[in-house]
Amino acid sequence: MKTLRLFDQDSHLYTFDATVLSAEAGKAPDTLSVVLDSTAFFPEGGGQYPDPGTLAGCPVTDVQEQEGIITHTVSLFHLNGAPHPFEKGSVVAGELDAATRRVRMQNHSGEHIISGIVHRLYGYKNVGFHLGDGDVTLDFDGVLTREQLDAIEDEANAIVAACLPITAYYPSPAELTTLSFRAKLALTEGVRIVRIGTADDPRDLCACCAPHVDNTGEIGLIKLLDFIHYKGGVRIHMLCGSWALADYRRRYTAVASMAAAMSVKQGDVVLGFERLQAEIEDKKKVISTLRSKLETHTVASITPTEGSLCLFDEGLEALEMRRLLNAAAEKCGRLCGVFSGSDEDGYRFVIGRGDPAIDLKPRIKEINTALSARGGGSSEMLQGSCTATRAMIEAFFAEN
Ligand SMILES: [Zn+2]
Repeated sequence: MKTLRLFDQDSHLYTFDATVLSAEAGKAPDTLSVVLDSTAFFPEGGGQYPDPGTLAGCPVTDVQEQEGIITHTVSLFHLNGAPHPFEKGSVVAGELDAATRRVRMQNHSGEHIISGIVHRLYGYKNVGFHLGDGDVTLDFDGVLTREQLDAIEDEANAIVAACLPITAYYPSPAELTTLSFRAKLALTEGVRIVRIGTADDPRDLCACCAPHVDNTGEIGLIKLLDFIHYKGGVRIHMLCGSWALADYRRRYTAVASMAAAMSVKQGDVVLGFERLQAEIEDKKKVISTLRSKLETHTVASITPTEGSLCLFDEGLEALEMRRLLNAAAEKCGRLCGVFSGSDEDGYRFVIGRGDPAIDLKPRIKEINTALSARGGGSSEMLQGSCTATRAMIEAFFAEN
């Protein structure tokens, strides 16, 4: 017997009683596969997850449909082995997670409105729809620009504001032939049509089995977010209803804290950010000039030696370390090392040679061991990082 689909008749039915037709052990331990005579749980399908909720107080973890029979996977975990209430013939109470169902309906109905407008204005088909958790994607088989999406969004929200009725119904085969509706497949019988607008003035007709809001006003807000070019068309991220509100709240908090941190008005955060970027670039130039002066000074202050040299600094970039190494190596006869960092955080290093006859490559292992380092390189130069202290490093260079 096919399951009576209560969500077909009333999408806002969140509690119901139904009779158990069968209950078998589920695939996972401590679960049951329950079939009822009727259900308000929408099964997974058409890009939408199944409804969450409870049956007889037990969590419903999955709802699937096969040939009209809807099977609920119910978790018995919390019963701790006590007898379950799903004996054949018993009546159980079902309760949907109403907030989740409501926001999914807001987003699914919003998707129909957007897809209807895109189809009417540009002739593009919706070729992919995913109603995830707080993220909805729509794929169209044609390209749209941001300006076009803004106009589509305006028109969609005007439909929301007009509080148009949304009706789901099964037209007779004869009536179906007279209707022009959007559908993924060529459908001829048992087709459920979701109509936005009145019968006299339908704004969109689409074959769909999912529950929808009763009135476009329930959607609240339709917001098109990022979009990318995808498989010759576009993939659009969209949020409607309370997901759109939550998203607005997140973005508002982010913008408000950025504005406060930069001491600018919220409307000026981009300007404030650009000003910060420019300041950072200016400071980088100043730092670079100062560093280069410091480098010249450091090199000039080195007393030439026949032995080895090692220099320390806290925050040198890789390029600066190499430049300093090249200048300093000319002032020593053996090894030359430049170390950047601290005893607490460890050091990054480059090691070169004052005498071109010294081959560093065969000494990699010895140097790594002495400096507790991970390093490598060529005959002329080694580089890496080490955890040895400054005193240990200086002792090594004094002996080599
Ligand atoms: Zn649909």
